[in-house]
Amino acid sequence: MPQKQPDTAAPDLAPQLIKKLESVLRKIQERIAVERSPGHKFALIHMVEELSIEEWHAIASRLDLHGWLALPLDKEDGVPLEALRLTLEELTRQRDHDFLTGLANRRLFDRLAQQELQRALRTDTPLSLVMIDIDNFKEVNDTFGHAVGDKVLIALADLLRRSMRVYDVAARIGGEEFCLVLPGATSLQAYDLSMRILEDFSAMEFEAASGERFTRTFSAGVATSKNRRGFDTVEDLLRLADEFLYKAKSQGKNQVCTLASRHAVTDNPALVQVAEKQFLFTGKTAS
Ligand code: GH3
Ligand code: MG
Ligand code: MG
Repeated sequence: MPQKQPDTAAPDLAPQLIKKLESVLRKIQERIAVERSPGHKFALIHMVEELSIEEWHAIASRLDLHGWLALPLDKEDGVPLEALRLTLEELTRQRDHDFLTGLANRRLFDRLAQQELQRALRTDTPLSLVMIDIDNFKEVNDTFGHAVGDKVLIALADLLRRSMRVYDVAARIGGEEFCLVLPGATSLQAYDLSMRILEDFSAMEFEAASGERFTRTFSAGVATSKNRRGFDTVEDLLRLADEFLYKAKSQGKNQVCTLASRHAVTDNPALVQVAEKQFLFTGKTAS
């Protein structure tokens, strides 16, 4: 299965948010224009919350800070810094998250996966990536309409969120494709988690506008970093997860594929070397 191009399209920012940001910036610009004096080339603003003006004055005088201006964040009549801060926060959230499901988008996924892989290499702990693709999803759109298809995507995203630990990442990286980053998870732990999610997802019933009920499944591929046994990059892991996903699709869909299934490892010890088996189960290599 060819790798999908990263989803680099500009995210849809809510028009009212852009309008709000423009109006806030215009107000600040007007204010700064009035206060600008020759010789002052720029201003730095670091917003400090939960600090009173009096406390700030005390700090400024103790540290001998000149040329710093403290402005309250909560006053409507001042420079609307609080509104600016909230709007910028919302813009950042929209830039990094998928509009439909609220999950991390491809851009944030790439950043977090890199970060987590670096951490895994430093601490010599495993890291697993799971690539998930809903089976016969086009059929849902074609039979019941795009809006019902969207409901299925949102339901899977909610299930992924509910099934994750706090430091796991779930991202929507394409139309009906999702990816999980599972720091600390061995291949078999990631396999077991994916199987549990698949069971829960395939048990969900969706309802079309006609009242007709239907279910869906997905296929998934799991790849696990080798850590210090040999360097992997996020791209290597994505390629491997994609190969296992392709295997799952070609073996009939509705399944999870990885290096070895729990059944294969536990029932046939000759299948994998002892060291490999230890790594699969514990993430630690035999020394
Ligand atoms: P397979 O089992 O081989 O994965 O088949 P499939 O039908 O799931 O895959 P295919 O790639 O043929 O179709 C994916 C469909 O996903 C086509 C596209 O219209 C739909 N899609 C992509 N993004 C969205 C979206 O945001 N909402 C909805 N409703 N559909 C979407
Ligand atoms: Mg697909
Ligand atoms: Mg699909």
